[in-house]
Amino acid sequence: MNCPLDTRENTQLLLDYCTRKLEPDSVAILERHIAICAACRELARGQRAVWHALDAWEAAPVSADFDSRLYRRIEAQVPWWTLVVRPFRPPFRTVTLWRSLPALAMACLLVVAGVVLERPAGAPAPAATDRAQVDSVQPEQVEHALDAMEMLNEFSRHVRTDSPDSKL
Ligand SMILES: [Zn+2]
Repeated sequence: MNCPLDTRENTQLLLDYCTRKLEPDSVAILERHIAICAACRELARGQRAVWHALDAWEAAPVSADFDSRLYRRIEAQVPWWTLVVRPFRPPFRTVTLWRSLPALAMACLLVVAGVVLERPAGAPAPAATDRAQVDSVQPEQVEHALDAMEMLNEFSRHVRTDSPDSKL
């Protein structure tokens, strides 16, 4: 067999071998390879050492009052008003905003410079096709737009009267 370390899929085969997830046939093939391949032997030895260490590790027992002591420490370190205000705070701090102001100003300057350079003072007026587009708006289109705006106004008036705030 080719060395499993040469391809990613076969490296997984080697890891499965170390965690004893492989079928007996594959184990036999792999063990024959490991016997002649120093790199795979070293990897398998390291993996076994890790698994032994994990098996030997025991977590310290948790005391019965762990939760209450934890919550007391959290409350002691965070003032109560921070807990109240936290959900309403903006995603970034004001200090961050002030620090980023020079970068924002530079970005605005670049945009303005880009616009000025793109359209110098003697730039020709917009092409005739632009004006033709504006002229070609049909009266029905304007009427539809006005109807839609009226419908939106009606809708927002209904929403305002239906909202629970207005009943208070
Ligand atoms: Zn190998």
